[in-house]
Amino acid sequence: MIVGIDDTDSRSGMCTTYLCAYLVDALRNYCGEDSIPSAPRLVRLNPCIPYKTRGNGAVAFEVSTTTARTRLEDVKELVRSTVSEFSELDDANTNPGVVFIEDESMTNLSIRQLKSYYERAVRTVLTLEDALAIITDFGFDYFGLKNKRGIIGALAAAAFVILQRYYRYDFTYELMAYREKERWGTPRRIDERSVWEADAATYPLTWDTVDVANGRVVFAPHSPCPVLFGIRGDSVDALYKAYEIVDSEPVERVMLFITNQGTDFHLITPGTEQKLLDYHSYILDGVVESNPVTIAGGHVLFKLSSVSQSTNTGVDCIAYEPTKGFRNIIRKLRQGDEVRVFGSFKCGTLNLEKIEIKSLKREELRNPRCERCGRSMESAGRGQGYRCKHCNTRREAKEVVAIDRAIEEGLYEVPPVARRHISKPLIRMRTKKGVIIHPSR
Ligand code: ATP
Repeated sequence: MIVGIDDTDSRSGMCTTYLCAYLVDALRNYCGEDSIPSAPRLVRLNPCIPYKTRGNGAVAFEVSTTTARTRLEDVKELVRSTVSEFSELDDANTNPGVVFIEDESMTNLSIRQLKSYYERAVRTVLTLEDALAIITDFGFDYFGLKNKRGIIGALAAAAFVILQRYYRYDFTYELMAYREKERWGTPRRIDERSVWEADAATYPLTWDTVDVANGRVVFAPHSPCPVLFGIRGDSVDALYKAYEIVDSEPVERVMLFITNQGTDFHLITPGTEQKLLDYHSYILDGVVESNPVTIAGGHVLFKLSSVSQSTNTGVDCIAYEPTKGFRNIIRKLRQGDEVRVFGSFKCGTLNLEKIEIKSLKREELRNPRCERCGRSMESAGRGQGYRCKHCNTRREAKEVVAIDRAIEEGLYEVPPVARRHISKPLIRMRTKKGVIIHPSR
C-alpha cells in the first residue's frame, strides 16, 4: 500500500516531511524493518501555487503489501491519528489530506491516469474535484481534515511512488535531519565552518548546501519547524559523508528521501499556438527585444519577443533582487541576443530561474565615423547617406562595428539562495555533451 500525505504544516510550525519521517520510523518499529521497502518520497508540486506554505512539498511512502490485511487497517489508523494529532489545524491555510493506494487497485488505466494527474499537479493548477474524481474512479481510500485541499498533493505524491516503477523520471535525494522537540522554535546550533567543510568534501555530488558567491549556508530553514537541515544531492554515499562532517545540536532522527527536487519537472515547453497561463512555468525561446533595465527595488527587466510563441507579442522577463549576482548576467544582455528563458509566468511576466544565451549579438550598425576628424556623421536626409557637418565628408551607409561583450554564451542560473527546490541546478548537467554551463555556487 502507498500512503500519500500533504498540507499538515504552517509557517509557525510542523513540516509534512517530519510527520512522514515520524510515521516511517513508527511503522518500521511496529511492522518490522522490511515494512517500508524503499525510502519515502518528497515530491515538489507546482511551485507557483498560491496556498503553499514554502516549497509546495508533499510526501509518500510504501508499506509492504505482504503485511496482513488487518495490519494494513492498523497502519491506516496510525496514519489518520498521527496526521490529526500533528497537523497545525489552527492555521486557516492548513488543510490536511491523506490518500491510500493499494496495489490491487492498480490497472493500466489507473497508471495512465495517475501519470497525467502527477504531471498536472507539478505543472498546472488542479482542484480538489480533480483529485476526488480519480480517487472515486479507482476506489482509493482517503482521509482529509478541514477543506481537505491536501488530498490534491497527497494523491500526486502517492502517484509518484507508483510511476517510478514504470517510468524513468529523473530524481535526486535529500537527507533530512530533525531537531529534538524541546528545541523547536529556538535558534539552530549548527557549526557553519563544518557545513562549508561538508560541502567542499562532497560537491558536486551534493549541491545547494552553501552559496559560495553570497557567503551563505542555505541547507537549514529559519522557520520554527522541526527541520534542522537537509542535504541535497545525487549520491546517497555523498549525502551521508556530508552528514557525518556537519557538527550541530543533537539530531532527533534522520530520514533519506527520494525526491523530484532539482529536476526541472515543473517546466513546460509550450506549443506555438498555446497561450501562456498564470501560475505555470515555461521554457521559451526568443530574442531580446529591449536592453535590460534596472527598476525600483533592484529588479532587472527585459522584453523577450518569443519566437516559440507566435501568439504572444512579447514577454517581460524579470530577475528579482533576491537573485543577486544573476542580475548582472541579465544586465549584460543586449537587444538582438538569442536566448532561451526558464521560469514561472504571472500577469505577463516571466520570473527567471535560468537563462541560456544561445547567441550573442556581436556586431551592430552605427552611423559612420568621419575619416578626417573621427566624429560621428549625421544623416544627410532621407536616402542621402551620412555627412560630417565639420569636414563635409560623406558616406553612403551605416557601418558594421564589433561589440565587445563581457559575457559568454551558455546556461546561467540563479544562485542557491534564490533557487526553487524543483529547479535543476546546472551542475547536474555537467556531463551533458554540447551544453555550456555556468553553474552558480
Ligand atoms: P511545506 O513545503 O513546508 O510542506 P508546502 O509549501 O508544501 O509546505 P502545503 O502546506 O502543502 O505547502 O500547501 C500546498 C497546498 O496546495 C496543498 O493543499 C496541496 O494539496 C495543494 N496543491 C499542491 N499542488 C497543487 C496544484 N498543482 N494545484 C492545486 N493545488 C495544489
